[in-house]
Amino acid sequence: MDSVSCIFCKIVKKEIPAKVVFEDDEFIAFNDVKPVSPVHVLVIPKKHHNNLLEIESTEALGKLMKKVQQVAKELNLNDGFRTIINTGDNGGQTVHHLHVHVLGGRFHKWPPG
Ligand code: AMP
Repeated sequence: MDSVSCIFCKIVKKEIPAKVVFEDDEFIAFNDVKPVSPVHVLVIPKKHHNNLLEIESTEALGKLMKKVQQVAKELNLNDGFRTIINTGDNGGQTVHHLHVHVLGGRFHKWPPG
């Protein structure tokens, strides 16, 4: 997957619409189009990486998780939330731009069904 045809890169460039809940220079967070929980937000780095295997920088990874924490706080997910990073075919990844699912607003059982 290259960044030109990547649907999340198109959201970053505002070429297709999304319900954006947070944005700064390096990250954007928006509602998942098919939510599985009352809150279902995707937090993504604006820079294209296909998946978790392809992001090299420790600093960039740390920043992503810090941004997830910030977004969860801004969404008032004080009762807890589920974070998911699907990677590759066995991980069930369907959009090949690194993203963190943030699920909240209900109890999430473990293991996931
Ligand atoms: P994954 O299976 O981890 O790759 O998740 C990709 C997620 O992106 C799915 O939950 C989709 O519902 C979501 N998705 C796909 N296209 C869009 C879009 N245009 N806007 C918002 N969410 C999307």
